[in-house]
Amino acid sequence: MDIEQIRSDFPILSTTVYGKPLIYLDNGATTQKPKCVVEEIENIYYTTNANVHRGVHYLSQQATDLAEEARVVVQQFINAGHSKEVIFTRGTTESINLVAHSFCQQFCSQGDEIIISAMEHHANIVSWQLQESIRGIKLKIIPINEKGELILDEFKKLISPRTRLVSVTHVSNVLGTINPVEEIIGIAHSHDIPVLIDAAQSVQHIGIDVQKLDCDFLVFSGHKIYGPNGVGVLYGKEKWLNLMPPYQGGGEMIKTVSFKGTTFNELPFKFEAGTPDYPAVIALATAINYIKKIGLDSIKAYEDELLRYCTDELLKIDGIRIFGTSDNKSSVISFLVGNIHHYDMGMLLDKMGIAVRTGHHCAQPLMEELGIEGTVRASLAFYNTKKEIDQLIAGIKRVASMFG
Ligand code: PLP
Repeated sequence: MDIEQIRSDFPILSTTVYGKPLIYLDNGATTQKPKCVVEEIENIYYTTNANVHRGVHYLSQQATDLAEEARVVVQQFINAGHSKEVIFTRGTTESINLVAHSFCQQFCSQGDEIIISAMEHHANIVSWQLQESIRGIKLKIIPINEKGELILDEFKKLISPRTRLVSVTHVSNVLGTINPVEEIIGIAHSHDIPVLIDAAQSVQHIGIDVQKLDCDFLVFSGHKIYGPNGVGVLYGKEKWLNLMPPYQGGGEMIKTVSFKGTTFNELPFKFEAGTPDYPAVIALATAINYIKKIGLDSIKAYEDELLRYCTDELLKIDGIRIFGTSDNKSSVISFLVGNIHHYDMGMLLDKMGIAVRTGHHCAQPLMEELGIEGTVRASLAFYNTKKEIDQLIAGIKRVASMFG
C-alpha cells in the first residue's frame, strides 16, 4: 500500500488543528472520506438529482439506476445471495431497530428471550430493551472474560426453548475483540435460532461473506466505512425478511393503498419507506469500490501491523492499562494511564492535534463490567502511520509528566 498516495486521497488529513498537523485516531467513531466520495455526492446533486423510483422522466430513471447499481455493489461486497436482501437504512442503529421491531412483532411474545453480549454498543442493547417494554421479551447477556472475550460456554448455557434470536457485535468498539461469530452462528443454528451480526466495526477492516458466515442479519453504517453519513445497510436472509412486517409506512414500501387496507411492496422496498438518501447510497458504493481497489486483505495486514506497534509502544508507558487484550483484535485500543481522567487525557492530546475518543463509547454496561467510567480510545485506519503513533505516544507521555 502506498500510504502517502492514500493519504492524499483524504484532504482533511493534511489540515491542522491549533496550528498542529491533524492526527486523526477516532476512526471507530467515524472515518474520513476520500475525495471520490465527496465528489460523487456533489456530482449527483449537480447532474442527477431527482427522486428515485417515482418518475418516468430521464433524471429520475438515471438516479434510480445508480441507486440500484449501488445495491448490487453492496450485495457483492458482502456476497449476499441476492440484491433484494440488501436494505438501505440510515445506519447501524436504524438497521438494528428495524430488526428488533419487525422480528419481535412477528416472532416474539411475552417471556421470549433475545441473547446479546456484555460488550454491545447501546444500539444493540436499547433496541431490544424497547421490545422488552413493548412485548415483555427478556434479554440475556453473554459474559466476557478478563481479556475481553466472549465466554462461549456461558453462551451455550443461556440458550433455552424461549430463545428467539442472538444479536452480537463482530468487533467490539471498545475492546477491539474480534468475536468468533462463525462459532456463535453455528451454535445458535444448531438450536434453529437466527443470528444478527453488528458489523459496524468490522466491515471496514475484515472481508465479510454473509453466505459463508451464514448469518441471518448483518448491519453496518456508511460513515464508518469511508462513505457518507446518514446511510447504512441491513442484510437479511430473504426467508426472514419476507416473514417480517414493515418497519415504517409510506413511500416505496406500498403496493396499493386504500382506506380499507394496504398491501406492501416486495423486498427490498418493503423496508424502505419514504425518500431514501439516494446520493448517500450511491456514494456508499463509491466508498466500497475505493476500498476494494486497495484491497481488504492489504488493509487488514497493514492495520494489524499498526495495532501491534501501537500496543507495544503503549505498554512501555508507566501506569498504562489496556482494556481488551484478546489475541484476536481489530485496530481499536482502549486505555487509561495511572489516575489521569480520560477526559483530561483526551483534551490535552487534542491540543497537540491528536484526535482520540474519550468516555464510555456508548457501551455503559461494559464500562460497569470493567469497573471504570470510561477510557481513552485510539482507533486506527489504513491511512494512519507509525509516525502518527509515535506522536500519540509522545503526547501521552507529555500528559503523564504534567500529572506527575
Ligand atoms: N454498533 C457498534 C459496534 C458501533 O461501534 C456503533 C457506532 O459506534 C454502532 C453500532 C452505531 O452506529 P451508528 O451510530 O452509525 O448507527
